[in-house]
Amino acid sequence: MTFDLTPEQDQLRDAVRALGRRYGHGYFVEKAKAGEHTTELWAEAGRLGYLGVNIPTEYGGGGGGITELAIVCEELAAAGCPLLLLVVSPAIAGTVLNRHGTEEQRKRHLPGLADGSQKIVFAITEPEAGSNFHRLGTVARRDGDGWLLNGRKCYISGVDEAGHVLVVARTEDSSTGKLKPALFLVPTDAPGLTRSKLDMEIVSPENQFLLYLDDVRLPADALLGESLDAGLPALFAGLNPERITVAAMGAGTGRYAIERASEYTATRKVWGGRSIGSHQGVSHPLAHAAVQVELARLMIQKAATQYDAGRDLEAGVAGNMAKYAAGEAAALAVDTAVQVLGGAGMTTEYGVATLLGAVRAGRIAPVSREMILNFVAQHVLGQDKSY
Ligand SMILES: Cc1cc2nc3c(=O)[nH]c(=O)nc-3n(C[C@H](O)[C@H](O)[C@H](O)COP(=O)(O)OP(=O)(O)OC[C@H]3O[C@@H](n4cnc5c(N)ncnc54)[C@H](O)[C@@H]3O)c2cc1C
Repeated sequence: MTFDLTPEQDQLRDAVRALGRRYGHGYFVEKAKAGEHTTELWAEAGRLGYLGVNIPTEYGGGGGGITELAIVCEELAAAGCPLLLLVVSPAIAGTVLNRHGTEEQRKRHLPGLADGSQKIVFAITEPEAGSNFHRLGTVARRDGDGWLLNGRKCYISGVDEAGHVLVVARTEDSSTGKLKPALFLVPTDAPGLTRSKLDMEIVSPENQFLLYLDDVRLPADALLGESLDAGLPALFAGLNPERITVAAMGAGTGRYAIERASEYTATRKVWGGRSIGSHQGVSHPLAHAAVQVELARLMIQKAATQYDAGRDLEAGVAGNMAKYAAGEAAALAVDTAVQVLGGAGMTTEYGVATLLGAVRAGRIAPVSREMILNFVAQHVLGQDKSY
């Protein structure tokens, strides 16, 4: 057993950290408040090969795994730039396409994801279905050689920045007549696909949207994979990378907040010559948050290692636990940082309260803490399902 990164992974971590610090949280907030995107950072990360670290070399990627992509997510977040679209585009769409797309789909889409020139976002959540994806109501019907999609999606991140949305719909199985999931690559400018931006209380350069699919006509090759049977495994293929990378982003955000807070408490003096950090009432909550973040990082490393070794089932348990732990740790770290900074904690200048919305959302999305506890209760502890 080793807790060390390989020399290449170490180099990647240092290089991504340096890139993130060059932009920093001030840049991230400025873009968010101006209603703009982090286009320059995304493009530079793409050019340097960081966005495609998990994509095979034959499609222009780095040939690494989710371990490498988690490093990229964590280090950018630790520099104050938590980029949610890393989770959606290279982690979910990149993995799903690579594992279950046709060769033609891989060739068409993976190089653009790898160099960052294209983004593919992911749409599963629906207003009615919520956490219960068995209730998905977006339906794809055969339309000549192609497909006709109808339905609604909500909270879909980054549609305004993406060329395609990977839409989870249901199709009728001709043999059983039952509906089963299928994934479709829908161009964001497809006739019949409209969107409205949701106002979210999150300081983020990335936006969430309601999507309306009204008779969206698609060619046959918009269906992800060789046949309808690819749908369910493709959907599950995206889950572990999503949980692991979102956890990494949470851990990085936690590290960022603790670092900001520690710098402040080590130097701020309001009682004689002592720093406020010398009071355990200030340092212990910070130290406690640091322990939680570090524990989450260990779980992320375990989940990513298992995933990259092809141990999907074990990675599913570890990935869910990592996502739960990192979501809680990030929220605790940011809240604690705000508290120990006092009034400065609520200013934009000190750059921690700007993360409150994002870390709060991290306990809900992409899978809520309650649904992870349900998963652990059922799959690890053998409890019955109540729903
Ligand atoms: C910032 C942000 C970005 C997002 N980006 C995307 C995206 O790009 N693509 C996408 O498809 N979705 C996206 N989502 C949606 C996100 O995945 C969902 O919000 C999340 O899965 C929860 O679903 P819901 O909002 O419908 O909550 P609901 O399912 O309505 O649940 C509401 C509450 O009830 C709890 N609950 C529900 N059922 C149970 C149960 N059986 N046991 C215990 N508790 C339960 C939930 O945990 C939650 O706390 C995003 C959401 C946010 C906030």
